[in-house]
Amino acid sequence: MSRRRQIYEGKAKILYEGPEPGTIIQYFKDDATAFNAEKRGTINGKGVINNRISEHVFTRLAHLGIPTHFIRRLNMREQLVRQVEIIPLEVVVRNVAAGSISKRLGIEEGEMLPHTLIEYYLKDDALGDPLVSEEHIAAFNWAGHEEMQDIAAMAIRINDFMCGMFAAIDIRLVDFKLEFGRIFDGDFSRVILADEISPDNCRLWDFNTGEKLDKDRFRRDLGGEAEAYQEVAKRLGLLQKEDDNSPGEVLDMDAHRSRLRQPVPKPKK
Ligand code: C5P
Repeated sequence: MSRRRQIYEGKAKILYEGPEPGTIIQYFKDDATAFNAEKRGTINGKGVINNRISEHVFTRLAHLGIPTHFIRRLNMREQLVRQVEIIPLEVVVRNVAAGSISKRLGIEEGEMLPHTLIEYYLKDDALGDPLVSEEHIAAFNWAGHEEMQDIAAMAIRINDFMCGMFAAIDIRLVDFKLEFGRIFDGDFSRVILADEISPDNCRLWDFNTGEKLDKDRFRRDLGGEAEAYQEVAKRLGLLQKEDDNSPGEVLDMDAHRSRLRQPVPKPKK
């Protein structure tokens, strides 16, 4: 097997050089981190599920005319994407108060916000990804004025689409984080959606029970994180149903290997 050049290893993904110039292979790990990597763990099968969910969402967003880095899924844990120059901002869209906005402003978790909010955080682990204003972004030239207009317009369209997509499967989209990147064409550059969209970077609550179906299960030690991610994928129609005997995607590799080691039962007459 030829060795691929690793470009970058992040908390949840590894990026490898792609087969053609301007492409990258995005590998989804099971590793989970929270609180700026102070808390570390693994969520069994997370990489496989996030790869599928992100493929699903990015494909549908492309159908709506949102430009994205996604080219195609390669296998269970990898997808081929366009290489971009990442804009150093985490773009958070909020519909309902939760997490850091509740803490920072003393708004009870679960309270509907008067309208959808977009927040920007500087992507800088050493600084703990601080909240920044559009004035900071302009002053320090992290993104241009037109780029910010494109980003805000795309974020709102993505939110509208995703709210509907999740509502259709009885899930409330509380908030989520996006990342954008630049692609260059001669002297011109264009902003496109990058990174991933999955339960790692969305807050997803069951509409009826309020049950959390996202990374907060890991952050808050609620347990059942693998099952929650699977539930989202199942509701989106991306996983085989339990009563379906066809070989679905292998999520738990250890369990799968030990099943393979067991003797095959004789067929019934
Ligand atoms: O922690 P906070 O409430 O600011 O998170 C808002 C949203 O952004 C959540 O859905 C969270 O999963 C996501 N997020 C993320 N990566 C970060 C910070 C937040 O995906 N570094």
